[in-house]
Amino acid sequence: MIEVTQLRKSFGVHEILKGIDLTIRQGEIVVIIGPSGSGKSTLLRCLNCLELPTSGRVKVEGEKFADESGKYNEKRVARLRTEIGMVFQSFNLFPMMTSIQNVMAAQIKIRKKTAEAAKTNAEKYLKKVGLAERMNHYPSQLSGGQKQRVAIARALAMEPNIMLFDEATSALDPELVGEVLKVIRELADEGMTMVLVTHEMRFAEEIGDRIIFMDKGVIVEEGEPSELFNHPKHERTKRFINQVL
Ligand code: ADP
Ligand code: MG
Repeated sequence: MIEVTQLRKSFGVHEILKGIDLTIRQGEIVVIIGPSGSGKSTLLRCLNCLELPTSGRVKVEGEKFADESGKYNEKRVARLRTEIGMVFQSFNLFPMMTSIQNVMAAQIKIRKKTAEAAKTNAEKYLKKVGLAERMNHYPSQLSGGQKQRVAIARALAMEPNIMLFDEATSALDPELVGEVLKVIRELADEGMTMVLVTHEMRFAEEIGDRIIFMDKGVIVEEGEPSELFNHPKHERTKRFINQVL
């Protein structure tokens, strides 16, 4: 599904990603953990071309989005972004739109659906995340957990093949975390290919097929959850896990 080779990314003189190699197979759930500032968000953003690599390659679904020369031009990048759903810590909903309008917007603008088709689809996904009763509420009338579920419904309504979650529960009050994790868990059960950055270690261990520990722009270690959490090989991994567990 995704193949990353020797990915490097710099901002100015700061090299943030220092040669990342990563393969994600269809249906796989990969969880990225690591200290703040280690480059996790930058890596996710490179996967859907919100950031372009300084060097190295990111291939999504083979060469599907690349032109003959292997490059991603603007049009192909736009298409790729519609096929990879992304959920952020900060929800990023349109405040002047109701839940259903938020979920409809990109379907109409980017997928060129009719308002009617977009609405039917939006209802389906809002129901799926348990928000049938909140379709006509504005973001300001919703709890953090509800807002994040609208954001997930919005991403799902584009019918992506891959979902990226960047600390989707980090901005939530503790009692609201569970309802969002429940939705993510259901997607996992349906076989969605997912890459998650999270600080919820128990959830990572439960849901992940593979855990990747990043520090200072490199993948320090990766492995099956029970192996990585219980028998980390590297000192840096051990230290991080002891701090967060
Ligand atoms: P993490 O998600 O692991 O906390 P990030 O990928 O957000 O780490 O950030 C890694 C480093 O890259 C940080 O030092 C951050 O300040 C820097 N960085 C991220 N995005 C940009 C940007 N657009 N411009 C400049 N520096 C950035
Ligand atoms: Mg981050």
